[in-house]
Amino acid sequence: MTIYRATVSRVRPLTDTMVRITFAGDDVPAFVSTGVDDEYVRLFFPHGADRRELSLPVSSGSGWETPEGRPTAPVRTFTVRAARPEAAEIDIDFVLHDDGIAGPWAAAARPGDPLGLNAPTGLYDPPADLARQFLVCDLTGLPALARILENTPQGVVTRAVVEVPDERSVQPLPAHPRAKVTWTYGGNGHGPSRLAELVTAAVPPHAELAGTYIWVAGETTALRSVRKHLRKTLALPTERFKVVGYWAPGGESWSARYKALPADVKAELAALWDDPQGDLEDVTITYEEQLTRLGL
Ligand SMILES: Cc1cc2nc3c(=O)[nH]c(=O)nc-3n(C[C@H](O)[C@H](O)[C@H](O)COP(=O)(O)OP(=O)(O)OC[C@H]3O[C@@H](n4cnc5c(N)ncnc54)[C@H](O)[C@@H]3O)c2cc1C
Repeated sequence: MTIYRATVSRVRPLTDTMVRITFAGDDVPAFVSTGVDDEYVRLFFPHGADRRELSLPVSSGSGWETPEGRPTAPVRTFTVRAARPEAAEIDIDFVLHDDGIAGPWAAAARPGDPLGLNAPTGLYDPPADLARQFLVCDLTGLPALARILENTPQGVVTRAVVEVPDERSVQPLPAHPRAKVTWTYGGNGHGPSRLAELVTAAVPPHAELAGTYIWVAGETTALRSVRKHLRKTLALPTERFKVVGYWAPGGESWSARYKALPADVKAELAALWDDPQGDLEDVTITYEEQLTRLGL
């Protein structure tokens, strides 16, 4: 896996809670977009206080590794809002928030700041008979939602619901003749997320779902019941929906609590993923049920 080096070339605030950062650089022309609208990359951030000092990992099989003796670059996942290979540029829209690495880095980003990134991967995968889609997300899913809307065929009826902290976080979205977008306020670390309730309301039991695709992205724990609703209550085939946890509240303390679990409990959780016959969505539901049971 190639790790590219890119440099901030422009910074443009979009709203109070989001900033668009354009990256360019010698490596960017080699960056190949998958063309999948929610494609995402791993970003490798500076490891210390010096924003200009990067310790990039090197490619190792299908992953990467930090050369021995070098500091490890913190890595986070972000959507490619736009890729312009002809201009050797990509745009990434960052949610501004106070904790962690990426949010504070983005808030202070200036032209010339370097970052590392890998090749993109996408998950949004509507079926060939797509006639209707439901797109539900919070702020973190907004860049992917915008790109999906940009590229949705004109005839596809689209219902989108976006949860943002307040009206100052609403953004203009690409126009689509058959799309209706509803903005709702809350979640995003500013209050309890209503994503689960919003999906259940948009796609209730017994809804007619022929030709429909459902894409949901946002706060991970809020989406546990969404996956269950789509897969178990509505019995949707896995190719008819995609539920992607984009971020988790209380990250550090969550990881610490996970690490503190007894070894046999962690082994049981890990073993869930070993079933070669298991459907990935069903295994994920079982895994998430166990996490909830453990208070995680
Ligand atoms: C496929 C995919 C695509 C994504 N695309 C984007 C994107 O285009 N733009 C984007 O901004 N994010 C995107 N995310 C989400 C992003 O990866 C997470 O928000 C990530 O945690 C940010 O890293 P951090 O270093 O800022 O915070 P972390 O160090 O990971 O987390 C520290 C703490 O910050 C808080 N936190 C983290 N993220 C948020 C948030 N969004 N809102 C409020 N509080 C938060 C939590 O309390 C967390 O415990 C995407 C995630 C995935 C999986």
